[in-house]
Amino acid sequence: MSWINDPVFINSLYIISFAFFIYGLMNLTGPRTAVRGNWIAAVGMAIAVIATFLIDEMGHNWWLIIAGIVVGTIIGVPSAQKVKMTAMPQMVALFNGVGGGAVALIAWAEFRDTAGYAHEPRYVAIASLFAAIIGSISFWGSNIAFGKLQEILPSKPITLGKLQQPTNLLMAAAAVVLAVVIAVGGDSELLMIGLLVAAAVVGLMVVLPIGGADMPVVISMLNAMTGLSAAAMGLALDNTALIVAGMIVGASGSILTNLMAKAMNRSIPAIVAGGFGGGGTGGGTGGGTGGGTGGGEDRPVQSTSAADTAIQMAYASNVVVVPGYGMAVAQAQHVVKEMAELLEQKGINVAYAIHPVAGRMPGHMNVLLAEADVPYEQLKEMDEINSHFGQTDVSLVIGANDVTNPAAETNPDSPLYGMPILKVNQSRSVIVLKRSMSPGFAGIENELYHDPKTNMLFGDAKSSVGEIVEELKNL
Ligand code: NDP
Repeated sequence: MSWINDPVFINSLYIISFAFFIYGLMNLTGPRTAVRGNWIAAVGMAIAVIATFLIDEMGHNWWLIIAGIVVGTIIGVPSAQKVKMTAMPQMVALFNGVGGGAVALIAWAEFRDTAGYAHEPRYVAIASLFAAIIGSISFWGSNIAFGKLQEILPSKPITLGKLQQPTNLLMAAAAVVLAVVIAVGGDSELLMIGLLVAAAVVGLMVVLPIGGADMPVVISMLNAMTGLSAAAMGLALDNTALIVAGMIVGASGSILTNLMAKAMNRSIPAIVAGGFGGGGTGGGTGGGTGGGTGGGEDRPVQSTSAADTAIQMAYASNVVVVPGYGMAVAQAQHVVKEMAELLEQKGINVAYAIHPVAGRMPGHMNVLLAEADVPYEQLKEMDEINSHFGQTDVSLVIGANDVTNPAAETNPDSPLYGMPILKVNQSRSVIVLKRSMSPGFAGIENELYHDPKTNMLFGDAKSSVGEIVEELKNL
């Protein structure tokens, strides 16, 4: 064994890579430094991979590992390059799920390798079985989250009705019982397969019923779970890099989950309980479409034109732009900035109302608006802007829907009930830019559109704002 295979040298490389991870993560806290942060963390990961290659026992498996890396690179790099910004969350869900799946497979491979865990120290068995269960839940749950975000599956809750809770409890209990049987010496491979399948059913069943506003919290929770499962596997394999990287993901994912749940006025146990078929806050358990607003498709709405919108805003003192997922789809952020500048030249105050879950990922609107160089001071967090809507002449809602839906405050049966919203309905007038009367992510109607103060400007957000800009130039 030469010095480069010395565990002390390998662990030193790992420590260097952790410094890169942590420094990279610090850079991820702002949109301007995020790209650099990503590169720094990637360099850290490259160092960790090289260090892992140096471990003595890796010698026999080099070609297999390289083949795995090649396959992963061929799939991963082009898909990451091609993915649209708006599809990023589902890609994150998918990649996160793959991480959990990899952990579950490693636990299974270890089980085969050592013919059960009977001859391993107890802590190895417990950590591996924990990793297998959580990894499998995370893999299958993340795939459902991917399906919902990609709209392959309906985003509204899907449940087994009365069978939901017994099925989930049975499967969760089965996974734990199988884990105990394996930990005390059970070495049949069927036990391990049964454990992975039971955990898979739990992952599927917990995420399928979660809809509407709870999805961001769930994605972040699954992310944290993948991290924890990787850390547990690291413990079992005695690999420092896996332990530290897994704990960083687990800890940051847990903090994010907590922040998102607080921002959404949701309790994490209630969301998971909702998925289990129990009670909850209304989020995740509420029923499908409609949201109690009743037959709105047939009810009339007032529509307006770009010319009238431009005139209305030109005579306003305070305009609040409310961006949402539709602005991201249309890539309208640059033309929105141009519109805001024209309004400011006319002496009008312009602010942007940022809802914590607008779009499809945490900070989505901040990232888009930063990309268009919108001054940071103009971005107002929900709590701050909500007290200003009373003095707002025009709220221009650009592709936002769920985050403005008053049903979150007024309709206890709505899946959005309890989620804090941007109170645009308190402003003197509201103009909503969207293409049709289709609902938003939660799949429910928005009573705001039937408010007498609201006018709809139908069309793609980028084209509509472009037309408003032309009209403003002529005023
Ligand atoms: P919504 O998904 O509620 O609504 C978006 C609206 O944009 C739709 O009603 C759609 O209407 C419109 N739209 C789509 N494309 C265009 C376009 N090209 N031009 C104009 N309008 C367009 O978005 P919100 O931002 O209000 O809310 C986010 C939702 O996503 C919440 O329910 C949240 O819980 C959920 N979510 C958030 C995540 C996060 O981390 N931020 C992650 C996962 C889910 P139309 O088709 O008629 O144009």
